[in-house]
Amino acid sequence: MKLELVKIFNPFNGKWSQEYVEIPDDFNLKGLVATHPFVDLHVHVRLNGGEDYDSLERAAKVGGFHTLLIQPNTKPPIESQEIVFRHLTLIKDREVKFLLTISPFKDLEPFDKKIMAYSTDGIEYDYQKLVETFRGKKRKSLWIDHSQMYEVDGIFYEGADIELPKRPLSNEPIAIVRTVLTGLEYGFRKFHIQHVSNPFSVETISWLRNYADVSCEVTPHHLLLNSENISNSNFKINPPLVQERERKELVKMVKADLIDILASDHAPHFPKPEDFISAPFGTSNIEVAFSAYFTALENLELVITKMTSRPLKILGLTHRFSKDNLVFLDPNASFEVDSKKFKSKGKNCAFDGMKLKGKVVGLKINGKTVMWDGEIIS
Ligand SMILES: [Zn+2]
Repeated sequence: MKLELVKIFNPFNGKWSQEYVEIPDDFNLKGLVATHPFVDLHVHVRLNGGEDYDSLERAAKVGGFHTLLIQPNTKPPIESQEIVFRHLTLIKDREVKFLLTISPFKDLEPFDKKIMAYSTDGIEYDYQKLVETFRGKKRKSLWIDHSQMYEVDGIFYEGADIELPKRPLSNEPIAIVRTVLTGLEYGFRKFHIQHVSNPFSVETISWLRNYADVSCEVTPHHLLLNSENISNSNFKINPPLVQERERKELVKMVKADLIDILASDHAPHFPKPEDFISAPFGTSNIEVAFSAYFTALENLELVITKMTSRPLKILGLTHRFSKDNLVFLDPNASFEVDSKKFKSKGKNCAFDGMKLKGKVVGLKINGKTVMWDGEIIS
């Protein structure tokens, strides 16, 4: 290792500095930027053979992530103490920090400090079930919501040029209102809305903030792709991709801070069937998430802040900035996405073949370089 002068951005106070940090001997690159490793509040691990904690940890390191919040639709879902204990064993003593959400739809309530929230992600529910669930919970913890009216059919949004069932854009904001107002009535105070996909949802959340603590996230694919990109089943994603004018609005809404954070919704799958009807929803993207956000938003400080300090704040976690925990970035790099090279078992990436700007170069956790130039060191 050698000492190199690197520009460092501290997202907790918004300040830049220049400091000497250790990087591998054979690495020569000017313009390297370092910051706090990334945090992702929306990640799927599956445990069905399509992704496990070992493969996800390697993928997270390549993507520059240090903290991941796991969604409950694993196989089997995280909805009993027994399954929580299984996950707690699987995430123990890892370099990447894994935190858990639990399904609210059974009797389970948060009982361990690694359980950060309830999450409805990946679990179909109707209004009756939602009301009963809110009513039945004693612990009114953070509620993370995949907001969707499942009673309305539709793989893509109206306006997509493809002969398959469509749903209206209003599906999402209506579900957001339903969740937040009902939750409030039963004593919940803090909500986080997953993957907002259209401007109506963001405007709805702005109004709901008059009554409750509501945060929201947007994915890299909703910021960078639109419905015209849909060319194979890897573009079957829930919520669906919107048209270009709505995509541009979403980008503006992140810049105006109406959208709090960036979250990947990393959704690895076995190779998807070609037909759209039988293919599962989702794109595997944690390894290129930073580059996709940076390509869409072109503002390094904004991207870093919404991938580090802001998501930690939503979870109520405090973090000290330290040179022992750093992600190294090359904002001047550009590359073509090749999902065959992913460490994730999910190669189903909607960005495959696309040219992205900005690259994660290395990751240091607890003083140890764990990934450099795409290769896992430990
Ligand atoms: Zn998800």
